[in-house]
Amino acid sequence: MSSQHNHATVSHELSLGQYFDNIKTAVITTFKGMMITLKYVYGVRPVTIEYPEVKEELPEISRSRLYNDAENCISCLQCASACPVDCIYISANRRATDAPALKTKDGTAIKLDLTMYTIDTALCCYCGLCTTVCPTSCLTHTTDYEYASYTVDQMKYDYLAPEVRAWRTRIVKD
Ligand code: SF4
Ligand code: SF4
Repeated sequence: MSSQHNHATVSHELSLGQYFDNIKTAVITTFKGMMITLKYVYGVRPVTIEYPEVKEELPEISRSRLYNDAENCISCLQCASACPVDCIYISANRRATDAPALKTKDGTAIKLDLTMYTIDTALCCYCGLCTTVCPTSCLTHTTDYEYASYTVDQMKYDYLAPEVRAWRTRIVKD
């Protein structure tokens, strides 16, 4: 018994023209890719910086580390009332009637002695509502962003404590 097989043959051979076209395409596409790479290496502003040796200035409107300039706080509680997460803790005593008159830098009378002003920034969502309602603008979001802490407790800031008040010269722009 005999059988006959028919094989369809497909040619994978390139013509000379196709061969050189392929080389040309490879060179052109490699060149295009390298131009994009070189543009980012030499041609455009770098998108990274050598932090912490080089530091970016955040825009003035940034909502970063909170600071209360307690000497200009009138203990009105508006910030605490506005805070959606209740992370501002304030207490104050009425000033004695014969105590010398005190005013904030914008001329508002200070009728209460602030005895506690603490913000638990571990809870803060940086919404900015507290700073928006502050009538004397003593509570502000600074542009300071270098305040990572090792523990959650360290993120609770007592703005009457000398070490926290000392941040003022460094982080508050008058
Ligand atoms: S920014 Fe923080 S502290 Fe101020 S209102 Fe929002 S959550 Fe409260
Ligand atoms: S709103 Fe301003 S002035 Fe009033 S308690 Fe808060 S920080 Fe002080």
